[in-house]
Amino acid sequence: MTRSLTSTATSVLCLTLLLATVIACGTSAGEADLVLLGGRIVTLDPKAPEVEAVAVLDGRIVATGSEEKIRDWIAKGTRVVDLMDGLAVPGFIEGHGHFMGLGRLKIELDLSSATTWEQVVELATERAATLPPGSWITGRGWHQEKWDRPPDPAVQGYPVHDELSRAIPDHPVHLRHASGHGSIANSAALAAGGIGPATRNPEGGEIVRRPDGAATGILLENAMDPVYAAWNAAVSGRTPEAIKAEREEIVRLAMEECLAHGITSFQDAGSTLAEVGMFRDLADQGRLPVRLWIMLGEKDDIIGTSLDQVRTIGYGDHHLTVRAIKRYVDGALGSRGALMLETYDDQPDTTGQMVESLESLRKSAELARDHDYQLCTHAIGDRGNRVMLDLYEEVLAGSQPAGDRRWRIEHAQHLHPDDIPRFGQLGVIASVQGVHCTSDGPWVPKRIGDHRAESGAYPWRALLDSGAVLVNGTDTPVEPVDPIAGFHALVTREMRDGSRFHPGQSLTRDEALRAMTLSAAWAAHEEAIKGSIVTGKLADITVLDRDILTIPEDEIRSARVTHTIVGGELLFSRE
Ligand SMILES: [Zn+2]
Repeated sequence: MTRSLTSTATSVLCLTLLLATVIACGTSAGEADLVLLGGRIVTLDPKAPEVEAVAVLDGRIVATGSEEKIRDWIAKGTRVVDLMDGLAVPGFIEGHGHFMGLGRLKIELDLSSATTWEQVVELATERAATLPPGSWITGRGWHQEKWDRPPDPAVQGYPVHDELSRAIPDHPVHLRHASGHGSIANSAALAAGGIGPATRNPEGGEIVRRPDGAATGILLENAMDPVYAAWNAAVSGRTPEAIKAEREEIVRLAMEECLAHGITSFQDAGSTLAEVGMFRDLADQGRLPVRLWIMLGEKDDIIGTSLDQVRTIGYGDHHLTVRAIKRYVDGALGSRGALMLETYDDQPDTTGQMVESLESLRKSAELARDHDYQLCTHAIGDRGNRVMLDLYEEVLAGSQPAGDRRWRIEHAQHLHPDDIPRFGQLGVIASVQGVHCTSDGPWVPKRIGDHRAESGAYPWRALLDSGAVLVNGTDTPVEPVDPIAGFHALVTREMRDGSRFHPGQSLTRDEALRAMTLSAAWAAHEEAIKGSIVTGKLADITVLDRDILTIPEDEIRSARVTHTIVGGELLFSRE
């Protein structure tokens, strides 16, 4: 009798609490939807850093602890996932990627594996053979510094379009550089974009020319715009249904790729209002499995008046959040567009380019401040970073705590030593990409010399030690969307040839994992619901076949994602 009364009372209590929040009964076992056991579970919860099992109910973590305790949650309808001695960690958060770019790469020509310029031409020629004359060939991912031999002829180290134009005379061809900050166009594409011998360089862009003034086909930064406009005009002739179907297919492909790599949340570095509208529709239909956190990429005159209306937090059961603006202060190091304090070692007449005026950046910063958006500015060069730190400091002065604005600098790649501690002091998040260091490291000293490479290139250790919050991303599609490669890069800084790029700036494995989970959640104001395996948080969990926190360094890259769980749903399983 007593017992039954107690259990009735408990049920009523639980039910009451259940109405308020499903997590409240976490201490007494119920029927879980999902239980994970049979491996090591690293939680990033300081109270219980490592547990044996996790129970999930209604998309949330409801209990963590010993396998014995969690087994009480297993009922008839519970799905039990055996970790098979693998490692479960909080779901990976891609800290900086281009979501639509990732999906688009899957339908465009992927040139990232080409090892010579001739191979790029060959791949484009093969594609041209499958398409009627006049139709566009677009591709992405080539990088002259990653080829087996430099292109010949070359201008500024880049290939010229002659061979491409000879091989493909009847299709406009536009192939974007891996960095995204430049492209090569064949003569048909140059003509379509109206780029001729007399065309002047646009502001914030360069039409790379031969000594005789003829265009090489290389277009840097804003110089790509007219070719994009021509391509846009050509493809906009399609029906709205065809355009919509293609965009949704791009989303589907990007989602699939993320889930296969253990990514449960994706911080998108620049989408349009139209894309946000599509994401919202897809969230309504349950077709947005990976959680998106979006930076708005369009200019102020487009987004400025709709910021309050578009601001969205946790839409569709935390699958869509829009509360950040993306801006660019400079270009990339590869194209010598990064804005440096001193000139480039391999091109002493330039310090790079500021791609947007200070005035316009200030206006964006004020908009972000006044509408409670995070500002996320791409800054690669040491001057670019300094300009933005100065601007953040100026615009946020008086709106304390400035740190809680959680404004970010995307890349924070080359820093003057004086500016490194300012990230921590100002509460500015350093959103870095481990793989950029290991992938670009071999040619970085050529651009900026050994001294600047040592004192401030990818200075993660110094940033962290001086109090900065560090977030890691891949910048996909610039690099493959592979968190394990990113983790390996953060902890080793090991380049392809096995040598290490100033390894004193490496992170510990724990720090690296944090940069991909809890710190990334913090950098999006989401640490209360994501980033660690704690009762009450969203059940976003990634399972690996090997324990990347303890195995020898040279085995890290062979680890594979075996399960990806978002909101308690097993959305990817390797078997
Ligand atoms: Zn980016």
